[in-house]
Amino acid sequence: MKTYTTVEEMRVASRAARLGGLRLGLIPTMGALHEGHLSLVRAAKAQCDAVAVSIFVNPLQFGPTEDLAKYPRTFERDRALLEQEDVDFLFAPSVEELYPGKAITYVTVEGLSEKLCGRSRPGHFRGVTTVVAKLFHIVEPDLAFLGQKDAAQATIIRRMVRDLNFPVEIIVSPIVRETDGLAMSSRNAYLSPQERKSAPILYRALKEVQRKFDQGERSAVRLVDAGKNVLAQESGVRLDYVEIVDPDTLDPVEKTENTALVAVAAFVGSTRLIDNVVLAPHT
Ligand code: AMP
Repeated sequence: MKTYTTVEEMRVASRAARLGGLRLGLIPTMGALHEGHLSLVRAAKAQCDAVAVSIFVNPLQFGPTEDLAKYPRTFERDRALLEQEDVDFLFAPSVEELYPGKAITYVTVEGLSEKLCGRSRPGHFRGVTTVVAKLFHIVEPDLAFLGQKDAAQATIIRRMVRDLNFPVEIIVSPIVRETDGLAMSSRNAYLSPQERKSAPILYRALKEVQRKFDQGERSAVRLVDAGKNVLAQESGVRLDYVEIVDPDTLDPVEKTENTALVAVAAFVGSTRLIDNVVLAPHT
């Protein structure tokens, strides 16, 4: 595995791979890698001839009061994991390398970026789309692999790709969970042992929504209430939102007659976690 820290080195390597006829896959990450990230690497290895992983904790997607400074950084461990997975290129630029001056050019997917987490985290999705656009220009991948864990992010990036004609195909992989259902996340490292015990309540709430849906409930209000009731059972968990939305527009639906995304965000102690399930009407 070759590790690059400059835009120029990364660009030269990925251009050479593509000129050599290799199908190139990119997995953008913020590091502190876990099995969720590695599932994306494996999906990429299965579908591409060469795989690049980026590790970059992107300041642009963190709000002023968020966890940028304390976000877990485990670079040497990450690098060893990626070596084991037989990744070809690791791109790990510094903040100064990727943003040499103050960023004044942004990519914003209007409308979608203010939905779900975008409402509680103003500017977050603009930061994500801006850095992903930069990474797409630098690496020029044929395919990019994202996780369903960040479902709204995947919707927004797909829309950016469509609206701006990026020559990249977006592949979304399922959520990888701990055995108790907690969605794997780099932020799980923040949880105290007590909070870690409470955290699977997010998935339990989603499972309850799924159960009610499977029993025939189609009212979004009633499905959301069922999820909220479960979350209310954990006193240390503070709900940000539970919403049932159209997976493409991220607009709330009233009735779950078509495929719908149930998204939840909640603070477990001071750690903000997200999770989701997709409700698919039986065909
Ligand atoms: P992050 O490092 O948190 O920015 O995540 C990098 C990529 O990994 C994103 O596309 C995430 O959606 C994906 N990802 C994170 N956690 C998981 C998970 N538990 N299962 C599947 N994909 C994940």
